[in-house]
Amino acid sequence: MKVQEKFVEGRTKSLYPTDQNDHLLMEFSDTLPFETGKKSTIKGKGIINSEISSFLFGYLQSYNVPTHFIKRIDDKSSLVKKLSMIPLQMLIWNTATGSLSKRLGIADGTILETPVLEYYLKDAKLKNPMINDYHAYALGLCDRNDMSAVVRIGTKVNAVLKSFFQRKNLALVNFTLEFGKSGHQVMLGDEISPDTFNVWGINKDGKFDKKTFHLSAETAKQLYPKLQEIILK
Ligand code: ADP
Repeated sequence: MKVQEKFVEGRTKSLYPTDQNDHLLMEFSDTLPFETGKKSTIKGKGIINSEISSFLFGYLQSYNVPTHFIKRIDDKSSLVKKLSMIPLQMLIWNTATGSLSKRLGIADGTILETPVLEYYLKDAKLKNPMINDYHAYALGLCDRNDMSAVVRIGTKVNAVLKSFFQRKNLALVNFTLEFGKSGHQVMLGDEISPDTFNVWGINKDGKFDKKTFHLSAETAKQLYPKLQEIILK
């Protein structure tokens, strides 16, 4: 496959054009996604995320979720469909914690009766502000049909992944998704990895074990391989 100059260089991934116009090569880097200003890396993290993400995209496809994923190329790259990205990030919550708990005064660790869907505008200069569907239409990010597809796909991904993790004794606390269009079809793009989801261990008594999977710079080194083992075994 002929790989040309970079098409996109993001914080944790680079996309390259291929000799097929509508396909891109997505390469995962070892850079950590924390917005500390300072770039930190963990050797081998790109390979782990690539493996987890391609496994989960394949798993979602087996449930007929439309995604950009085509196939894995090597240990840190996949071939994906080139999408025209909708510049918003969907954040889905199943358990209240962090900013959601603070903002709405919900006790940390409360299991939400129904999932909460939030949208954030992908604009680093504006610090990725939270928006709703009306903002998305007014800003021309997508139309109502696209938004219905985004909600439909996001909700299905949540249901499929929640039960996947539950079988591994993990609670899917929250995670982000990105969507794009190939022609008129809205599909799931980007990645699903420990950089985009938070899971908590569930103890034998059904209680959360938050400490086990707390993603911070100090614990990240152990966390990535641990999740790789749990998800892929
Ligand atoms: P960031 O999200 O901070 O830009 P990433 O490293 O995740 O950092 O960057 C990957 C970029 O590639 C993102 O802007 C994402 O929207 C974009 N992207 C993901 N999947 C596709 C795709 N299939 N086609 C085109 N762009 C994509």
